[in-house]
Amino acid sequence: MQNSVRVRFAPSPTGPLHIGGVRTALYNYLFARKMGGKMLLRIEDTDQNRFVPGAEEYIIESLRWAGIQIDEGQGVGGDNGPYRQSERREIYQKEAQRLVDEGKAYYAFDTADELDAMRARLEAANAPAAQYNAITRMQMRNSLTMKADEVSSRIDAGEPYVIRLKTPRKEEVRLNDIIRGWVNVHSSAIDDKILLKSDGLPTYHLANIVDDHLMGITHVIRGEEWLPSAPLHVLLYRYLGWESTMPQFAHLPLLLKPEGNGKLSKRDADVGGFPIFPLEWTDPQTGTVARGFREEGYLPEATVNFLALLGWNPGTEQELFTMDEL
Ligand code: GLU
Repeated sequence: MQNSVRVRFAPSPTGPLHIGGVRTALYNYLFARKMGGKMLLRIEDTDQNRFVPGAEEYIIESLRWAGIQIDEGQGVGGDNGPYRQSERREIYQKEAQRLVDEGKAYYAFDTADELDAMRARLEAANAPAAQYNAITRMQMRNSLTMKADEVSSRIDAGEPYVIRLKTPRKEEVRLNDIIRGWVNVHSSAIDDKILLKSDGLPTYHLANIVDDHLMGITHVIRGEEWLPSAPLHVLLYRYLGWESTMPQFAHLPLLLKPEGNGKLSKRDADVGGFPIFPLEWTDPQTGTVARGFREEGYLPEATVNFLALLGWNPGTEQELFTMDEL
């Protein structure tokens, strides 16, 4: 089994990579190296509203600076990747369509205003979450409540629609996280998530699962902020018929702000004068320059050593590790 380990680092190009992201990449990299496996880079750029120019190049350059080598997709463009989800939209469309055809997903035509009005009515009536889900599904204008010929004539007429998951009502969804252990969720807590948006692009959830499957990912090592999405992901593997090759999940504890009040994020450009970005970053919108570890004179080896020791202890007094030792 050892040689078949495949992990991925899958950032969204919504801004510069911060050290939390470098740490996630580092854990993936070290795990792949230890297991004699491979690590690939996948750019998750399906949310066009949050796309930040230059972020992809910045991410690649930062990994290079840190000495984190990518086995697949380390180049910018060309055959050597990285994999970009925006270039793979037909693949996700096909899978979303398959789920509709198999009765596991449906077309929904409701506009944002209609959905807001529906939510407001349900909130006013204090509907519990499960009921909320059931009511909205039956109240919405969708392919579950419409005749088939009405659905096709709306689609043929170019009416915008999304594809939503038809989440089961009464199933237990379980996953055994390598770090967290068993996580059990009742399916009624998962709403009918959008899988394919009206612009024809997938949401994060669909694209992420389809790609992890097609790219043969064996271990998903990512930040804990994705743990709440993991039951939905398990459900998607089941619905897509890929449960037997589902990767193992490891949700890493996050790097928090010094006060412990929340996750360190790109908005905290420096924490008490301490850089959080690997390289200097100029915000393309505001022109603000945030200096990185490199510009502040921190060596990449020292930065990586420091990151590796956040949340991990070798059990000895050793404090300095080379990448090979790690
Ligand atoms: N694109 C997601 C992110 O930027 C990836 C999450 C995952 O690894 O599944 O965090």
